[in-house]
Amino acid sequence: MADIIRLLPDHVANQIAAGEVVQRPSSVVKELLENAIDAGATEIKLIVKGGGKTLIQVVDNGKGMSITDARLSFERHATSKIEKAEDLFNLNTKGFRGEALASIAAIAHVEMMTKTEADEVGTHIKIEGSKISSQEVAVVPKGTSMLVKNLFFNIPARRNFLKSDQVEYRHITDEFHRVALAHPQIAFHFYNNGSEVFILSANDFRKRIVSIFGRKSNEKLVPVQEDTQVVRISGFVQKPEFAKKSRGEQFFFANNRFIKSPYLHHAILGAFEGLVKPGTHPGYFLNLEVDPSTIDINIHPTKTEVKFDDEHTLYAYLKSAVKHSLGQFNVVPALDFEQ
Ligand code: ADP
Ligand code: MG
Repeated sequence: MADIIRLLPDHVANQIAAGEVVQRPSSVVKELLENAIDAGATEIKLIVKGGGKTLIQVVDNGKGMSITDARLSFERHATSKIEKAEDLFNLNTKGFRGEALASIAAIAHVEMMTKTEADEVGTHIKIEGSKISSQEVAVVPKGTSMLVKNLFFNIPARRNFLKSDQVEYRHITDEFHRVALAHPQIAFHFYNNGSEVFILSANDFRKRIVSIFGRKSNEKLVPVQEDTQVVRISGFVQKPEFAKKSRGEQFFFANNRFIKSPYLHHAILGAFEGLVKPGTHPGYFLNLEVDPSTIDINIHPTKTEVKFDDEHTLYAYLKSAVKHSLGQFNVVPALDFEQ
């Protein structure tokens, strides 16, 4: 019988990988913002149109790319962030898989303009469905601009699966909040359909929270701070009386990366026990700094689920740190209900 196994062409492999990396427009926003941060940007502009389905643009003032790197960046597994397997255990960057740009370029119309400090002129690349259609010299400032249009243009099933502009926009806002909160020292500008949504100047964490969630959020915050051998915990919890039925303003950041952790959420609920009505959720903005070698980020392509080496200890420290803060700030139950 004839042999029937073959290696898939790159553009097909990219399209398959894209299915995992890019679920919706907000996934593109996340990847592009993270690349800008990894490039050392101090100022990042995000522009979206039509819930991100029509257009997503991220402009940064980071280190930019050389003409050759600019082309290479769209190849799968092309990355400047790790070199060898061991590097995976000591990550200091958001990215490392070298998959995002290859995936995005496989399923959208992409234009990149980029220039390094050292180069006199920059480069302007157009790529669609994994094929570079043009690369030209461009007079642009140092940094990178990534423009992504017509997401899923070549996968009608995925395009049709996307929700309304409003719903997709809401996902983008959620993603923006996470990234902007994780990096208060970076200035962000966010525009939607031509109007300004946020102009956030470089700030400390508390001021960043307030500039996103409004002036009223300031009085809700109780600082949390605890340094231990395994973790440095910092940030804020909201006073118990502001706990809500709906989940929402709950953020964990592990080494400046937004993470989801039902387990650690439970630790917070434990600390609030008796202070909030059962079934309501207190808000929190908590940074967990751990040794990068004690956290595994490479569990899922989107990297929001992570694995800590010593989750139980972390849980205990977190719960006691929050309890301590609530006690110290004399936070007493504002609600009359029976335990
Ligand atoms: P990863 O971030 O995992 O390395 P990406 O596909 O997101 O993979 O990006 C590939 C490479 O392109 C990066 O490693 C980086 O060298 C380069 N790159 C991407 N975006 C930018 C940017 N905004 N500024 C500078 N370099 C970038
Ligand atoms: Mg990346």
